[in-house]
Amino acid sequence: MNNYFILLAAGKGKRFKSKMPKQYTYYKQKQIIFHSIDKAVNSQLFKKIILVINKKHKKYLNKINNNKTVVIYGGNERYNSTLNALKYLKKLSPENVFVHDSARPNFSLKLLDKINNKLKNNIAVVPVLKTNDSVKFVNNQTKLNLDRNNIYLAQTPQAFNFKILYGLFKNNYNIISDESSLFINNGIKIKFIDGEKNNFKITNNEDAKKKELNLKYGIGFDIHKLKLGKKLYLGGLHIPFHSGLKGHSDGDIIIHAVIDSILGAINKMDIGKFFPSNSSKYKNVRSTNMLRRILVILNKNKSEINNIDINLICEKPKVSKFRNKIIKSLSKFLKIDQSKINLKGKTVEKLGLIGNEKAIACEVITSINKYDK
Ligand code: ZN
Repeated sequence: MNNYFILLAAGKGKRFKSKMPKQYTYYKQKQIIFHSIDKAVNSQLFKKIILVINKKHKKYLNKINNNKTVVIYGGNERYNSTLNALKYLKKLSPENVFVHDSARPNFSLKLLDKINNKLKNNIAVVPVLKTNDSVKFVNNQTKLNLDRNNIYLAQTPQAFNFKILYGLFKNNYNIISDESSLFINNGIKIKFIDGEKNNFKITNNEDAKKKELNLKYGIGFDIHKLKLGKKLYLGGLHIPFHSGLKGHSDGDIIIHAVIDSILGAINKMDIGKFFPSNSSKYKNVRSTNMLRRILVILNKNKSEINNIDINLICEKPKVSKFRNKIIKSLSKFLKIDQSKINLKGKTVEKLGLIGNEKAIACEVITSINKYDK
């Protein structure tokens, strides 16, 4: 694999009525550009994602939570932005490069795979749609009916052999609306494949509302006894306390309940199915390692976490003292923003096992969005 993904996001988007540039507005619970970034990362087809932004928009860009994305600055026109990215990529000697318009957040991972497969025997692959509308050509002198069977609407991502694309760019001085135009202008063969209706370009506020979220919910619960002298782990964080949680693993009830809630939301049974407590393999295992495996399953299920709400039920330690640290730790291990995690501490009026400080319990609700089939 020697592919790179250029994401063009330097445009000003004049047709979009918002104070913030279109690509930074929220759509299906995240900034439009992050849909493309996350899909490119999840596809595992690319060594790096080159995000091309306008220098003036830097303040709008949310924190990027993967180490594959490189941010560079674009130029005045799309052409200059792509060229900047190609120049940046040159030193990495890529084989192929995908160029994508950040205003198209709805392409599927299937489309990426299809394009990638076609690149084996082609130097340019472009997804296109046929049109069902009648097509007219109109300018001052001429009005023409065009045969719609000969009309193709080009989408992105478009993929190219890097050397050939770069060569065309270096020798071009015209304004172009997409990269494949250069291949057509120079009479170089392009492989057209079927695009996706859903891969429309968001140009106005109505488009941004078109697609609904596909939300699912899962619940998780766990309780462990406290044991004097054991280390206490909550949400992946070591908490100084006289006792820790008894159990096969490190006893991290927050992580265990989070895992169960994630598995519940994606319909994949429970933690015991993946980490049987009678297996010696998981003795003393850190729960964060178990969580890592569950996140791979979540990813394969084409789902992502929207928010997590946690009740930690104990008399001591005082949750308020560690709340922010636990949220920070969870955000690191779950690879999501801290703003998506809520943690509440509950005491039980000194009643029962928990009230007598013999056990700690935890309950969690997680909502996930399935972003692709
Ligand atoms: Zn447990």
